[in-house]
Formats: sequence, structure tokens, C-alpha cells
Amino acid sequence: MTEEPKPCDLLVTGDLILTLDAASSTLRSGAIAVAGKTIVDIGPAEALRAKWAPAREIDGTGRIVMPGLVNVHNHTPLMITRGMIEDVGFAPMYTPGIPQGHWLTEDDAYALSSLGMYELLRAGCTTVVDFYRYPSSCARAAAELGLRAVIAGRVHDADPASLATGRHEYSPAIGTASLAENAALIERWNGHDDGRIRCDWAPHAPDTCSDDLLREVKKLADAHGGNIHTHLSQLPAEIEAVKERTGLTPPQLMDKLGLLDEKMIAAHCIHMDRHDIELCGKSRMTVAHAPIGNAKGGRIAPIMELKEAGARIALCTDTFSGDLIEAMRWAISMQRINRQGNVLDARTVLDWGTREGAEAIGWGDKVGSLEVGKKADIVMLDNRSPSLAPLVDGYGVLVHSASGHDVDTVIVDGKVVLSGGRLTLADGDAIVANAQKAATALWQRAGRQPIG
Ligand SMILES: [Zn+2]
Repeated sequence: MTEEPKPCDLLVTGDLILTLDAASSTLRSGAIAVAGKTIVDIGPAEALRAKWAPAREIDGTGRIVMPGLVNVHNHTPLMITRGMIEDVGFAPMYTPGIPQGHWLTEDDAYALSSLGMYELLRAGCTTVVDFYRYPSSCARAAAELGLRAVIAGRVHDADPASLATGRHEYSPAIGTASLAENAALIERWNGHDDGRIRCDWAPHAPDTCSDDLLREVKKLADAHGGNIHTHLSQLPAEIEAVKERTGLTPPQLMDKLGLLDEKMIAAHCIHMDRHDIELCGKSRMTVAHAPIGNAKGGRIAPIMELKEAGARIALCTDTFSGDLIEAMRWAISMQRINRQGNVLDARTVLDWGTREGAEAIGWGDKVGSLEVGKKADIVMLDNRSPSLAPLVDGYGVLVHSASGHDVDTVIVDGKVVLSGGRLTLADGDAIVANAQKAATALWQRAGRQPIG
């Protein structure tokens, strides 16, 4: 006697499903059954159609299906600098002549964050770590558009006005205000929508935070749980300032103050000597590798050395793009240039942008691969795109040839949040227009007249 099909909420089919599970399972003509927010079955489409009676089916003819991408370090309000910062400086906080974070109003931050979150979803990123000033605006944007997000404030006590002119002046009042902003974020948003939004602590960098402030953040983060997000060994100016203040390198300082451990996710890790690399490796911290931003600043991070030393590697765009597939390609090219050899492949960087990122943020049991019991965070790419043909193993063409623009449909927590490239929960055109309005006013204040 054949069993009656069981009800489920959603059945997603695909010409090819890349599960990115530990066994690298792939399925031709496969399907994923979803009940509520959770994947309940994966297998051949024909078998799942016989087994499940879905309330809705998404036909994946001509689609590659994969897990949502995980971007472990980003600052959506810094969309304000796009197309400008790349040719005038490296890290916006240290660069004069561009709109700075302390110029933004909460409305500006929300308008720009909405643009950033929209771009991330459009490019298949379903989970993002995002931190900046007015972090509640980032949480609100992610919540409204349907992303899964870890949000934090931008904790520092160095005065941004002094940083932009090359000086490090510390103000306890600035430190207290940024701590209060991060605490208010946690109070309001941590655990929102059944945990889809989580909040963490983020001290900006070892040079922009005094020792006392870093100690305070560590204490607060330990009590709260979650990760500590930061920037580490990003710029020569940071290393000089930390050495002058403490006599230590940035990793040595973080280690001395107790922050350098498996809970730390630090972007960049560029200017490190052998001892710094060993220290980071031993700590099992995660490097949020930002190859696009690094390259635009003319720098290559010693990622393979850090990995060999024991550090964990995950990927990010750090607001230089919303497209993590682009970041995967840059990561490969840069390490091959750095090592003068074929040291990194598509499969490895795909893991950095999915499973490894999920594990770094403590969500390895929830996202990062398509497996029964995990959240239904699913991305579908249009396999009819000429850049996705010919399809052989799937991994190579995806990393070396696809782009975020090939993403067609995005599902988070079992809910379709992007369909046919359009947002389903918000008006994408209005988001772009609002961000443009905010940016025009901020750039005018910086003395630049936007075109038009
Ligand atoms: Zn950053």
C-alpha cells in the first residue's frame, strides 16, 4: 500500500542542487521540501513529489539551487561611499573628504542600509553580519527585507574627526555613547523574529578603541554570548598607533586583553608578521577575508598562512560589493598571485562563503548548507544565463563565471523574499530612490555636487 503524501509548505525543485553538505552531495533534478522555516526532506524531485503534498511549489526548471550565502562582515550605511571611496582612500573612517559616519542621521542610515540589504539579497546573500553607527536602522532594514542578520553597533572612543586627519584622540564620552548605542540595539532587536536577527558587540578596531574600552566590550560580550566583530591589522596607521600606545602589535594587544579567541571575527588581517600569524592561528579566531576591499587598497592579506597556522577563514564584502561570488573569485586570484601558484580552488572558497561563515557566527547548525533540519535559506540561480553554461560539476562555473546577477529567487526561513530578481517584502525602486536622496544631501555637504 502506497502512503498518502504528507503535507508541507513548500517544495523547491532544481535542475541541479548543490547542497554543500559535508559530503558535497549534489542532485540532478532534485527537490527540497520545507515545513515552516525548516528543510524536512531533500532528494530526487520525482520521489519527493510522491512523498509530499506541498501548499506551494517553486519550479526550478533551468535553475541551480544552493544554500544562501553568508557574508561575515559588512556595514550597509557605508553604501554612501560607493563609487567614491575606491579612488580616494581605503577605510572610510580614516579618509578625509568623504561623508563620515558621524554625519549620518538615523534616517540616512536606514535609507542606505535598506539599499545595502537589498543588494545583498539580490546577489544571493541570505545571512549578513552588519555593524555601524545607528545599528537599529540596519536591524530594521534586514528585518523588513527578510534577511537573516547579526547586527552590532560601532563601538569606539577615538574621535572620528581626528582620525580623518591622521590623529588618534580618545574621548570617554564618545566611548560611553557608542557602548550605549550597542546596548540599546541588543535590548530592542536581539532575537527578533524567532532569532532571525541576532545582535552582538563590535569594537571598531584596536587603534580606535582604548584598552579600557576593549576590556569593557570583552566583559559585555562574555555576559551576552555571541561573537566579537572587529577590524584587525587593516592599515599601517592602525599598527603604528597601537604600537605607540601599547608597544604591541594589534593581535598582541587583543590577545593581552583577552579578546583574541574563537569568538573573534576580525576583518582584514593584512599587515601581520610571522608572530602575529602564529598568534592568530593558535587562537582559532576567524578571519573575515575581504579580498575586494583589500585589493582596492593595493593590499593582499596572508590568508593561506593564517589558515595553515590554524585560523578559520570566512568571506565578506565589507560593503565594497554585495556580491559574495565576486569576492570568492577575488580571493582565489589574490592568493594565487601571493603564493605564485594554484593554492586555492572554487570548492574551498564556496565553503568560506557558506558553511565556514555560518560556523564562525555560531549558526553552523542553522544555515550554510542545504540539509534536513536546517533553516530553509535557499538561493536559485538562472541556469539559462550564458555565463552559467556549460555546467559540468557546478562548483567551477558558479565561482569562476557566475555573478550575483544570476540569482533569480531567494528564500529565507522558508519565505520567498526575492522572486524574479525583485524584492517581495519591500519596494526595491523606492529603496534605491530614498538612498539616492540621502546620498545626494551628504555628498553636497562634503562639497561634491552629484550629477543630475
Ligand atoms: Zn569593515
